[in-house]
Amino acid sequence: MKELLVALDVDSAERALALARDLRGVVGGVKVGSRLFTSEGPSVVRRLAEDGHRVFLDLKFHDIPNTVAGAVAAATHLGAWMINVHASGGLDMMRAAGAAAADAAAAEGLPRPLVIAVTVLTSLDQAALERVGIGRPVLQQVETLAALAAEAGLDGVVASPQETPRLRERRGPEFVIVTPGIRGTIPAGGRADDQARTLGAAEALAAGASYLVVGRPIIGAPDPRQAAEAIGSSCAAGR
Ligand code: C5P
Repeated sequence: MKELLVALDVDSAERALALARDLRGVVGGVKVGSRLFTSEGPSVVRRLAEDGHRVFLDLKFHDIPNTVAGAVAAATHLGAWMINVHASGGLDMMRAAGAAAADAAAAEGLPRPLVIAVTVLTSLDQAALERVGIGRPVLQQVETLAALAAEAGLDGVVASPQETPRLRERRGPEFVIVTPGIRGTIPAGGRADDQARTLGAAEALAAGASYLVVGRPIIGAPDPRQAAEAIGSSCAAGR
């Protein structure tokens, strides 16, 4: 299923490459996050891209515009297909990220990676958001940050499947919505782990998600390929 992205949240490049190979044709891309990147460095991104995988580099950059622009240019150079930043870094930072991706891709003759913005982490619920000083409803905060990402010219956002219907309605059909926090109807025990705002895969797609990010329910399954296929089938049945 091309909308399904698997989070390669493992510590070794060999394990990540083996998982990606095992899941080829069943998932639409792989996600390299801070755990794998910090363990193995940029070479794992390059190797996955060279193996023909679409790589979503999920490092959630959040810094001053000049620094984020440099990081986004470096990620583009590595061959990332999708890159993300934190929307709470602000409008100028997001504009700098988008411009850096376009400039770096043009300079090197590479396709421009998608640049998306994290709104509110899917592990945060209302109470947790209040503890970081944001007293408004989660949905409102997500909508504000998504509007800012759109104003900055970014391709889309990362948000929970619970906010996806409203974002799809507000931002239109072209806006990329990536949703982690996929749990529930997945036949992997239905555990939520540390995710707070969750939904099943088929429901998330029906709600308007462009891409689903699934980690532990696939990579923690006894047979990851079968787990990914089951998610694909549950979505096909729901269409
Ligand atoms: O294992 P699980 O399915 O919860 O993995 C979800 C993945 O999506 C993790 O790699 C996590 O870092 C990432 N993610 C998230 N929430 C965001 C952005 C990324 O869960 N807002």
